[in-house]
Amino acid sequence: MAHSNRTGSTTATAPPPPAAAAAPIGYPRIAIAGGGPGALTLALLLQLSSSSSSQQQQTHPTSTPPVLPVTVFEMRSKPTPAQLDEPSGSLDLHEGSGLAAIRACGLWERFVPLTGDCEEGMIVVDREGRVVYSDGENEEGKEKEEKEQQTKRGRPEIARNNLLRILLDKIPPDCIRWGSKVVKAEKDEQSATTTIENFDYLIGADGAFSRVRTLLPPSSASTLQSSGIHWFPLVIPAISTRHPRLAAYVGRGMFLCLAQGHMVCVMGGVRDSALVTVMLNCQRSGGVGGGVDMSLDRVKQRVLNEERFLGRFGDKVKEVVRMAFDETIAAAAKEEEEGYRQQDGIQLKPLVSLPAGHCWTHAPHATLIGDAAHVMLPSGEGVNLAMWDALDVSRSIEVFRRVLSPKMKECEEEMHRRAAQEAHASVEQNALMFGENGAEALAGWMREMMRSFGGGDEAE
Ligand SMILES: Cc1cc2nc3c(=O)[nH]c(=O)nc-3n(C[C@H](O)[C@H](O)[C@H](O)COP(=O)(O)OP(=O)(O)OC[C@H]3O[C@@H](n4cnc5c(N)ncnc54)[C@H](O)[C@@H]3O)c2cc1C
Repeated sequence: MAHSNRTGSTTATAPPPPAAAAAPIGYPRIAIAGGGPGALTLALLLQLSSSSSSQQQQTHPTSTPPVLPVTVFEMRSKPTPAQLDEPSGSLDLHEGSGLAAIRACGLWERFVPLTGDCEEGMIVVDREGRVVYSDGENEEGKEKEEKEQQTKRGRPEIARNNLLRILLDKIPPDCIRWGSKVVKAEKDEQSATTTIENFDYLIGADGAFSRVRTLLPPSSASTLQSSGIHWFPLVIPAISTRHPRLAAYVGRGMFLCLAQGHMVCVMGGVRDSALVTVMLNCQRSGGVGGGVDMSLDRVKQRVLNEERFLGRFGDKVKEVVRMAFDETIAAAAKEEEEGYRQQDGIQLKPLVSLPAGHCWTHAPHATLIGDAAHVMLPSGEGVNLAMWDALDVSRSIEVFRRVLSPKMKECEEEMHRRAAQEAHASVEQNALMFGENGAEALAGWMREMMRSFGGGDEAE
């Protein structure tokens, strides 16, 4: 019975961990595929709601549901503290979505000091590197400062790694199975159920290329679309001390050079680093990959020299990109020397999206959140939507638990009442049958029964 509504099937590459904490019948054991910001926000919110329920339960033992087990399956290995210290893309969180989730997770106090590595201003330059837009360019100092403060309150930036770190710090480590890739999610046609080990409900938070998405067919023909744009990240550490001229040019907010369908984006990162993201429109330029040498040095030469990429870009922009390549090459050489280099060369990642309005037919045992549900081209909203989804899903699960719990209690009370009545009768009946004169006693009892049903003395 308890397993009649299991969901999603997974083959995990990691050894099996301790079994999911036993949940009483009626409480869903939840599996989350993926361990990105959406998944971790959801896991934390579910843990918080279950532990607050447990506390209330100690005060009112029968009124609240017990602990809700949740397990996250993440294909990457557990990040080390050093890896979480590395510069990573900056995410601005918004009121009503990302920030609401941060507050609901009780992380506001930890979040605030980690914001501000990337300021909120924006500079846009053309192919030559000439500034065509800069936030507050026509404003007087005071007015500009006030505006910055205002926006800062509304859209603070945090490094992706710092966001993951504060979420991870609060999630019980047993909840996460690192190095566990969900390779398949399918419905068992025979039993009309789906299974993911011993879990009842599966939430796909496994990003753009979600495996769980296959469980939830789209309500209209709708598939993942490639934009033709591929991107890769580079890092310039300590830019303002080591390259002050470049630092002054790109600023500490977002710097964008847009031309020929390509983009060079620079953002302020942790410890005065600059994160340089190069986005190449391979549809227009004919692509970079296809078996060619993708070593950092080779890609650098091609990107900076070939006219179809950044070859015709102005010196200032090229200098930023060249410096970012050189610094990244130097860091890779150091990692190699120290024996912990994880990846050779550059991996160009495609930008993909689901068609706007993508939705799926509701299924009772699985759902999707974040990029798995609605990956879109980057517009500064993706992580906010993922955290908002997590907030809403956690609230629905909480409602489900709170509604289910009193109903289960009612059902259990009725079950107890009718079982007790029958159990009393069975005690009497058995005492009678297994006594010294069982046959006579049973015959007498049967006659009594027949009389009470109006059957007279026929049975004598
Ligand atoms: C270049 C770029 C810049 C961006 N900039 C911004 C920005 O400034 N602001 C913003 O809001 N958004 C931005 N986005 C979008 C944002 O990154 C995503 O919307 C957000 O990360 C979605 O979060 P998620 O938790 O749903 O998915 P993800 O962050 O993609 O996390 C998915 C997780 O699932 C894991 N996973 C994947 N497959 C499996 C599997 N089969 N089994 C187990 N685990 C699996 C992955 O390892 C990953 O940890 C940007 C995106 C890109 C590509």
